[in-house]
Amino acid sequence: MKILCIGRNYTNHIKELQNEKPEEPVIFLKPDSSILPKNNPFFIPSFSDDVHYEVEVLVKINKVGKYIESKFAHKYYDEVGLGIDFTARDLQSKLKAKGLPWEIAKGFDGATIIGNFVPKEKFENLQDLNFSLEKNGETVQEGNTNQMLWKIDEIIEYVSQFYTLKKGDIIFTGTPAGVGKVSENDELIGKIEGEEFLKVRVK
Ligand code: MG
Repeated sequence: MKILCIGRNYTNHIKELQNEKPEEPVIFLKPDSSILPKNNPFFIPSFSDDVHYEVEVLVKINKVGKYIESKFAHKYYDEVGLGIDFTARDLQSKLKAKGLPWEIAKGFDGATIIGNFVPKEKFENLQDLNFSLEKNGETVQEGNTNQMLWKIDEIIEYVSQFYTLKKGDIIFTGTPAGVGKVSENDELIGKIEGEEFLKVRVK
């Protein structure tokens, strides 16, 4: 399986990183080896002093597809979930400044947290979901999927031009504002509509 991610999909997060608003979706992949096994703690890697959390709504692809039109995209996923796209921001900034690929800053072991999935029918409208991340009991990120620059179905249309989607692939749909650094002993809890979807301890 592959993990497809969209960057810069929420205006308020683009602003906080002082990035330009993209004309087309910014897509990158994380390898499956980056998935932190369920219930394992996240260890801050030795190569970074600035690992950031990015909470994101996920969708799971349920069948093979290529050149999927957005109007048919809803047929290609039936589960929605929540995850964290951990990012070694210092490493990413260094590589970005040189115009180099910054994949390792997001694809390292443990950098992908995949929480629970539920059938998408659980929610009336996937493009109107409140989601949040708490760090040590304090809300640090809050967003609503209605703030996405590219909606889920548009992301699927876009990425499927380049990548054949396969059953089990997971799409990270972007993070809202509020990203920040993790420290040892932090506890992160992610919620959709107030319900816990993920929990991870930082070591
Ligand atoms: Mg992200």
